[in-house]
Formats: sequence, structure tokens, C-alpha cells
Amino acid sequence: MRLIIEARMADEDSDTVHDGDGVLAVVERRDCSLAHLGLTLAEGRSLLAKVQAGLVSKQVEWWFSGQTHCRRCGAALSHKDSRSTVLRTVYGKVTVKSPRLWSCACQQTARAPRHVVHPLSKALTNRTTPELEYLQAEWAAHLPYRQATAMLNEVLPLDKCISFSGTRNRIHALGKKLDADIERDIAKLPQAGADGQVRKSSHVTSVSVDSAWLRHCDSGGGLGLRHVNIFAGRAMFKDGPPKVYAYVHKEVTSAAARLDQFLSRNGVVTDERVTVISDDAGEFEKAVQGSQLARNRILDWFHIAMKFQAAQRSVFGSKMIDPMERQSVEAEITHAKWLVWHGKGGKAVQRIKALDGRLLMREGYEFSTLWWNLNTVSCYLRNNAHTLVNYGARHRKGLPISSSIAESAVNQVISHRMAKKRQMRWSDEGAQYMAQVRAAVLNREFSPRRILSLEMAASHHRKCIGVAPPRRYRTPNKSDPATIP
Ligand SMILES: [Zn+2]
Repeated sequence: MRLIIEARMADEDSDTVHDGDGVLAVVERRDCSLAHLGLTLAEGRSLLAKVQAGLVSKQVEWWFSGQTHCRRCGAALSHKDSRSTVLRTVYGKVTVKSPRLWSCACQQTARAPRHVVHPLSKALTNRTTPELEYLQAEWAAHLPYRQATAMLNEVLPLDKCISFSGTRNRIHALGKKLDADIERDIAKLPQAGADGQVRKSSHVTSVSVDSAWLRHCDSGGGLGLRHVNIFAGRAMFKDGPPKVYAYVHKEVTSAAARLDQFLSRNGVVTDERVTVISDDAGEFEKAVQGSQLARNRILDWFHIAMKFQAAQRSVFGSKMIDPMERQSVEAEITHAKWLVWHGKGGKAVQRIKALDGRLLMREGYEFSTLWWNLNTVSCYLRNNAHTLVNYGARHRKGLPISSSIAESAVNQVISHRMAKKRQMRWSDEGAQYMAQVRAAVLNREFSPRRILSLEMAASHHRKCIGVAPPRRYRTPNKSDPATIP
């Protein structure tokens, strides 16, 4: 049997059907078997490519028929010559005819003589469709560049439309645009009032912030090991799924502004406050200090509990405490933990200190893991005293107390795609752009439409500040310390 697939064009307003260019594909199955059921990958790709080529050429032809007359006087513009333009789409490269015309005589002056106009290249500043850009970036945000490119080439008739390095450049370009969009948003952020009534955010229940280190691409072996310090945060909402934001510390001018922009974009207004949960005073200082909206700070309960647990475990392994006494030492540590739970961090530190003093009388105690762990707990509590809260009360009210209930933001943004385990090395800039794209993809804010709006915003911004548009065909820069996945 043979299945013949034909293309025919029809007018929009009438039912007239024109005979098109005819046959698109002939699918032939010679034997009466189910061995080759349905279209093969190759047949599907070829069919889609032909449909796309036919549709795009017709669309361009149709569009061009509206461009042949002067906008001002309506006179027909004379034809100069014809070029061809290659458009990259999700279903392959399409080469279309792109005629060039002479400008109209009515626009001619002594100072501005007749010139050549090229309508198609003016209309299509980007020769790659947003859909292809979207697919490329979406997959490269999940998979290494090479795998993403290979996978797309396998399922779509891309025919050398995309390459490994092109995919990397795409992520860079889109990440840069997303980043610029955030910076523009920051410039427009309203200033929060210094005083006045502040109420709890009606929308965001809490934000958790954490950081991680990635290997820097310039870090060779031996000493001078450099790392990329990446921060990520995740907001939990009363309604709707959580959202993330991320940035490389070195690449942003103000971490607090990034946080405020993220919150403001997600509906937090200037007279609202949001609670931030993190695991260390250092993280609060680096990521939250100066924020206008993140007014409440809470030390992560999960990390407190982990430190207490480590201390309790080392009681069991300790040789200088006899089994009879172990229980009472363990109970003492548990009491200190519950004091912290009930918001009495100061008392908990005192209790640990008392226990520590009692144990110090024993020989060898100061060299034991128990000594180390008890001191870690009390130092941790003292350093973060101002971010300790009544965890029990919050928990009873159903408010979040820990950033680790679900997978933490930093794991979500970084793991798998950017993690150390994959032996990936990043530049600060490369990691920053990838983080922007990954955050947009994870937040489901990434679509062909978003790409189009980013492009429009960028070109509007260029026009406003008078920056020359980027060259369409960039030569790859060999010295560019780009990411090497
Ligand atoms: Zn004219």
C-alpha cells in the first residue's frame, strides 16, 4: 500500500482550494505486516520539514505582497534584485526569496537620494524563530549542551540548524536578556516606606535562601582553586507551586535587590513583609541584608536539629562516659534542643555550657567528638541568636520553620545540570546566565512568547539609550572563558 500526502492551499475567505505543489510524501509499505507500524522517525522528520518549508515560503510570499507599495503615496515600488534568506525554524532551515526594492520617489530629496529597501530583513531581525530558541534553551537547561543538541536533532528535522556551540551561545544570550530584564525591573522597584504599618504577605508564606559552590573553569589543580558562589532562593506560596530565583554572587550589584525584585514580581507589595529562612548568619548577610521586603529572618530548624543530633550521637560513642551516665547526658542535650524549639536559645546555650563545664573535669574530654559537637552547637546558636524564633509556636500555627522540608532551592537550581558530580566547570558569567534560564524554566515562565517579549524589551531599551544593536552574525570568540560542560 501507499499513503500519498498532498499539500493544497485554500483562501482565507473563500472555499477555493488551489492545487499546491503537490505531493509532500509517499509512505510505502510493501509487505502485509505490522513490523513497521506508523511513520518512522525519518519519515516524520522529512514530512514536517516539507510542510514547514511550504508554509513558510507561502506566508512570506503573502506578507511580501503587502510590502510592494509606498506607505505614503501608494505608488508601486520598483524591484531591484532578489536575495535569499535562510530562516531557522523548529522544523528545519527554510530558504526564502527576499526581494529588494527601490525606495519611493516621493521620499526622495536632494539630500536623501533613492535608496534600496529590504523589507524582509527589516521585518525579521532575528532569523531564528522564538520556538526554536525556546526548545533549544529549555532542553539545554536540563541537559548538557551536547546531549540537548543531539536529542533535538534526533527528533526534529533540524538539518544542522543547531550546533553544540550554538546552543551554548543561545543559553548565554537568553540568560543575558533575562538578567537584563531583572536589572530593568530592579531600577523600577518602588521604595518601601521606612515606617508605617507592615502586614504579613498575603501571598508568599516564606522564602528559603541557600548557597553553593561550583568549580570555576579557571581553577587548575593544586592550590589556587577557584569557585563560583551561586545563591538560590525558593518562595512558597499560599496558592500555587513554589518558585525559585538564583544568581552568582559576583555577577550582581545587590543581592538584596535581586530578592526584592523576585518577591515583587511574585506579588509582594511594599507594605508587606516576608519571612526568610536560611541556615547561617553569613547567608543572611550576603543574600538578605538590605532587603526591603524580607523583613523577618529565621534560622533553619533542620540545621539546628542536625547539629543537636550529631552531639547526641557522639555521646553514645564516647569512652569516658559510662553507660549509666549516657542517658543523663543525652537527656541534657535533648532538653537544650527543646529550649531552642520553644524560642529560648539563650537558656539552651547556658545549659550546654553547664554540661560542657561538668564534662571538662574528665580526662580526655576536650579531645573527644562530643566536646567538638557541643561547642559547634553552642557557637552556632550564639552566632545566630537574633534569628532564633519560637519554632514550636510557628509549627503549631502551620508556618514554615525549615527550608529543607522539600528539596532545597539550591539543589533544584544547581543539581543535575550544574553539579560538581558531572565534573562541570563554570565561569561566573556562564553560571549566572544558566541560572537565569534554569530559574525561568523551573518557574514555568519560559515560553516562545516570553522570548519574543524579551527581544522586544531589549530592542526598546537599545533604542532608548542609543546602543547599536548587536551584530547579527557574531564570530565566536576563542578567548571567551565560556562554560565547558
Ligand atoms: Zn511614495
